[in-house]
Amino acid sequence: MISPAAIALALAGCAREAPPESGALDYPYRPVPFTGVRLADVFWAPRIETNRTVTVPYCFRKCEETGRIDNFAKAGGLMEGDFVGLRYNDSDVFKVIEGAAYSLAVHPDPELDAYLDVLIAKISAAQEPDGYLYTARTIGRGDDRERIGRERWSYLITSHELYNVGHLYEAAVAHYRATGKRTLLDVALKNADLIARTFGPGGIRDVPGHEEIEIGLVKLYRVTGERAYLETAKFFIDERGNPERHTMEHPKRGRWYMQDHLPVKQQTEAVGHAVRAGYLYAGVADVAALTGEPGYLEALERIWESVVGRRMYLTGGVGAHRTGERFGEDYELPNDTAYAETCAAIANALWQYRMFLLTGEAKYIDVLERILYNGFLSGVSLSGDRFFYPNPLAADGKTKFNQGHATRAPWFRTSCCPVNVVRTMPSIPGYVYAVRGDELYVNLFGQGEARVELAGAPLVVRQRTRYPWDGDVEIEVDPGARRELTVLVRIPGWARNRPVPTDLYRYVGEAPGEPEIRVNGSPLGAGLDRGYVRIRREWAPGDRISLRLPMPVRLVAAHEAVEADRGRLAIERGPLVYCVEGIDNSGRVDDIRVSRAARFSTEHRPELLGGVTVIRWDGHTAVPYHAWSNRGQGPMAVWLPEDGS
Ligand SMILES: [Zn+2]
Repeated sequence: MISPAAIALALAGCAREAPPESGALDYPYRPVPFTGVRLADVFWAPRIETNRTVTVPYCFRKCEETGRIDNFAKAGGLMEGDFVGLRYNDSDVFKVIEGAAYSLAVHPDPELDAYLDVLIAKISAAQEPDGYLYTARTIGRGDDRERIGRERWSYLITSHELYNVGHLYEAAVAHYRATGKRTLLDVALKNADLIARTFGPGGIRDVPGHEEIEIGLVKLYRVTGERAYLETAKFFIDERGNPERHTMEHPKRGRWYMQDHLPVKQQTEAVGHAVRAGYLYAGVADVAALTGEPGYLEALERIWESVVGRRMYLTGGVGAHRTGERFGEDYELPNDTAYAETCAAIANALWQYRMFLLTGEAKYIDVLERILYNGFLSGVSLSGDRFFYPNPLAADGKTKFNQGHATRAPWFRTSCCPVNVVRTMPSIPGYVYAVRGDELYVNLFGQGEARVELAGAPLVVRQRTRYPWDGDVEIEVDPGARRELTVLVRIPGWARNRPVPTDLYRYVGEAPGEPEIRVNGSPLGAGLDRGYVRIRREWAPGDRISLRLPMPVRLVAAHEAVEADRGRLAIERGPLVYCVEGIDNSGRVDDIRVSRAARFSTEHRPELLGGVTVIRWDGHTAVPYHAWSNRGQGPMAVWLPEDGS
């Protein structure tokens, strides 16, 4: 993943390469890289540690067991054999490398470092002399041949040739940043040089059927300053939807399926495959920031309205249709058949964060936070080695909705989701803070300490909180010596009576008390600037901001047009969506109702599900949605029939 962290690292400058000049166009808001933010909180820190100690080695082992790594050795002539698996399996290995590199960047591990060296040698061997890297074609014998096309680049709608290497570029940048080694970066640059001279106005005019390379090319540009990479990313975006181009039609679906139905600047709605769409929008945001070209941001804002206003689940998940893994119509959001792929939540998060970086508006962080705590996090078990591909909002406990499983699964034939978790989890600290000039943005809450470079001088920020289990956050701002600065603290939408920044979902019932914010004990006025309390003052070591976000249990209703949720309510507390599971409710959930007059109680149960706050009413118990299906197979529901409706 990415990006925010790698972007900031690139921005921080790197003597070994020549990144773009500091005055070059870029995002006006800059992330504080994950390497500078140490979370020591009750929620994310244990999960990031599980990712490092369990999920990273587990996913490498699965890649070995399933022939994904051998494919590189075979393509490189280091061993005999046919290509095994699916044509996009190379990308899974790249994503685990990316996640492993992020872990390595903050946690030295010589064994992991050495493992990566051996693995990268196989990848390097698999690269053809001119830079081409795609083991399915290089090996030339395997089951997936009809989807890769007869020759290079001839069948981009399904080959995933360009998708795979997009993940290579991201992995290579992460590995280079973490270790200083050029081994994988050199493979990536050689490949990107081939792509840049092959595609473009004077070369092949075609676009990847599965977007992702746009993000990767931008990362290579940030490391090297090589404009051809940025220009190629821009070409892939601008060529999309070109009516003059005779693209081969998808065997089952039209060009809309890969967002190729209209020029990007004319697009108004999120359509097609939800993961591809999210990666495209994130890539468009990157190119918008780096080129300043008009039209991109306006298109992204229109598409954003269609996603967050009409096509997003309460969990932040996207993709209503299992068939085609795609967006549905407006307000078409079925719960039990929801697709809401883990990768789609991740792609949506990447895009939301970039929208913040472009605009500085907290509403994008509201959506990002909703995704991270719900629709993304549900994708991985507490143990770190069981996964969801789809993330439905209701389950009967019997239907095998999860690629042949009715509960979390150890792996999938198409295993994009587990390996996407691997790279996302260690990136989360990189979303907590951002800067612009002498302004510090506190976007997310979690106990820990950050070292920030603000207007050329260091600043230490410490948070003390039990978030998301309660809404009290103490933020210590330590500038070393007295200094005038602006700190902007996000007041989450959920604490301002707005679960989402559109009318797709709304809280019902009485609004809780207003958030309170104090500096060294003195209350501040409640005025908000784009969703932030803005505090400009001379800060001195020991200064403290105390934020108090009332966190009662809330009921949520969906827009009337969402048929699946009509007459139903969902339960939330703070940033968390709750659900009922059979195991806590005598085995059944289909008779559980909730009324607006329900009297809820909460209890923090440290021994349950890694430590969660449960919600109870009328003899029923709800647990956080992200933690469901960690205790075996069983029914679950988020949206409950309303008593009296
Ligand atoms: Zn996936």
